[in-house]
Amino acid sequence: MYPRLFTPLDLGFAVLPNRILMGSMHTGLESRPDGMARLAAFYAERAKGGAALIVTGGFSPNAEGNLGPHRAEFSTAQDAENHRVIPRAVHDAGGRIVLQLLHSGRYGFHEQIVAPSAIKSPINPHTPRELTAREIEQVIDDFSRAATLAREAGYDGVEIMGSEGYLITQFLAARTNHRTDEWGGALENRMRFASEIVRRVRAAAGPQFIVVYRISALDLVEGGLEAAEIQSVARAVADAGATLLNTGIGWHEARIPTIAQAVPRGGFAWATRRLKEAVSIPVVASNRINTPEVGEAILVRGDADMVSLARAMLADADFANKAKAGDRPAINICIACNQACLDHYFIGQPASCVVNPRAGRETKLVFNPAPKPKRIAVVGGGPAGLSCAAHAAERGHEVTLFEKAAELGGQFNLAKVIPGKHDFGESIAYFAERLKRAGVRVMVGKEAGARELAGYEEIVVATGVDPRTPPIPGIERAVSYVDVLNGKVQAGRNVAIVGMGGIGFDVALYLLERDSRAPYDPAAFAAHWGVGNTPAPAKPRHQITMLKRSHTPFGHTLGRTTGWVHRAELARNGVRMLKGVEYRRIDERGVHITVDGKERLAEADTVIVCAGQTPRRQVSGHLIGGAKEASELDAKRAMLEGAELAARL
Ligand code: NAP
Ligand code: SF4
Repeated sequence: MYPRLFTPLDLGFAVLPNRILMGSMHTGLESRPDGMARLAAFYAERAKGGAALIVTGGFSPNAEGNLGPHRAEFSTAQDAENHRVIPRAVHDAGGRIVLQLLHSGRYGFHEQIVAPSAIKSPINPHTPRELTAREIEQVIDDFSRAATLAREAGYDGVEIMGSEGYLITQFLAARTNHRTDEWGGALENRMRFASEIVRRVRAAAGPQFIVVYRISALDLVEGGLEAAEIQSVARAVADAGATLLNTGIGWHEARIPTIAQAVPRGGFAWATRRLKEAVSIPVVASNRINTPEVGEAILVRGDADMVSLARAMLADADFANKAKAGDRPAINICIACNQACLDHYFIGQPASCVVNPRAGRETKLVFNPAPKPKRIAVVGGGPAGLSCAAHAAERGHEVTLFEKAAELGGQFNLAKVIPGKHDFGESIAYFAERLKRAGVRVMVGKEAGARELAGYEEIVVATGVDPRTPPIPGIERAVSYVDVLNGKVQAGRNVAIVGMGGIGFDVALYLLERDSRAPYDPAAFAAHWGVGNTPAPAKPRHQITMLKRSHTPFGHTLGRTTGWVHRAELARNGVRMLKGVEYRRIDERGVHITVDGKERLAEADTVIVCAGQTPRRQVSGHLIGGAKEASELDAKRAMLEGAELAARL
């Protein structure tokens, strides 16, 4: 029969590693000239880290199925030859790897896209061409040929991408399939495409080949499949020869968050459980599983037989082995920010990770032992300083870290109180532990001046930022976001926010959501966003007006894949947003402004300033993070600069 992937279920973290699948992610390396070697190094590190099975990023079985204008295709003998290095590296590291076959259908960002019906997606400017019945047969054959090539390349199997709104889901849903031939109409016809692909892939690749089918356990779009229909699809692909059912949640065009910070940890495992009830092959839960205890709970509850971690394995390549060793404090937890992984894909950069900048740079960012250990002082214990101190000490340097505040973490201490950003606290705890293990001398509550820094061979200035105070008359009546987020100031009912960058949005969310729902509660999340019903009505505790001088779109600096969640949340809470604002003065009535030449008043009993930052530099040395450049600072740049400097010192 089909291959076994894991041992029987035990309890405790000891069993979890055998049941961790590394889920597919677009790394952006798939279409690069040096991509194969870099992917080999990337996956080999994760195989060495204990993942039971790895799924690559998506490769199309033909030209029309490519996701973008760049070729990420797996359709020729030459492609198979080019890929050989990947399964070889993974096998050498003791792992197993399957190639994901993804036909994007109407989601492809190019002119040649095809779909069951010529219906444009709301998230793509291109309209697809309707496939003929003959072409459908050809696409199915393309999948089976790609599977044969994958076996020849050395892969252990393939994952057939049947979720997230790509071609196979477009066949399944009446929303996108208006055909009247044998591939459209009743569900039995609409799911023929999926089951036929699995059947022919299995026939072509043989009984020992792993065939994962990634099924859409929840479509989250109008005209998508109902729960019972999804169970029918699950049974059909299992009968057709799938080894494993992996879970996908929501089409990309869905307006309900599926992996963003707003999603509770493991918040969709209940949908995987419905699949498990329908089939006897193993099923895999996914989405926001970022700690061993969340994965373990899913397995113990019986919601799934395996758990899929994708971003969590970017954040820590050794996640599975550390879980196996019960070494939870050593795990670098994914904070679900999407900033360096998914957001990178949309700007054509290779995926990496905010909290682990080495991810995706395995061949470039290398931490060799220091040839001559030095005495290094790192001034500042925010993201940049933590990253630099940890890496430098692990290279063998003698590192002392000075932090003026009473605790490590810097800006992360403010971020961790924002709804959905609780995991920033995990990062601080992780780095504190890592410093301890690396032997860094940590001096908290200690400002470093010339006297403290005497005798160090290298001084790293990671002193961060100070909030900017704009020169608006009456600004002394306003409060800084820092005092709101650290609880020193309680905002009144009417609030005006000066500045609409990431922190302005975060502060608005903080005020609106602080008490409105329990974090990490899947039921509250489902009710809040209307999963399967209408969303719960908003009951804002504050009337908020957000202001900015520029004319750029609201929230344009927010993450590509997460900004819409923040905008949707503020819109449903009735937050007013004004751009092109000229500030006149602040008084007891609020903020007096001019917009389009007209004087207006943004009424407020609390005015919160979120107008960016300026660098804080008291000492000289190697500048990194906010101390180097405050504008557009984010944790991604801070952590990367810290790591890169540590690699050079
Ligand atoms: P920011 O993104 O630079 O935004 C600063 C805001 O202040 C802008 O809206 C700017 O808009 C306004 N401003 C600047 N100078 C001003 C002045 N002199 N008077 C009045 N208004 C002024 O900074 P931030 O919001 O503090 O965020 C800091 C960094 O953290 C950013 O890189 C940000 O991307 C990142 N971050 C991201 C997120 C997220 O993506 N969710 C969350 C938090 C932080 P106008 O010039 O138009 O008035
Ligand atoms: Fe997770 Fe953010 Fe790293 Fe992506 S960049 S893997 S979301 S921590």
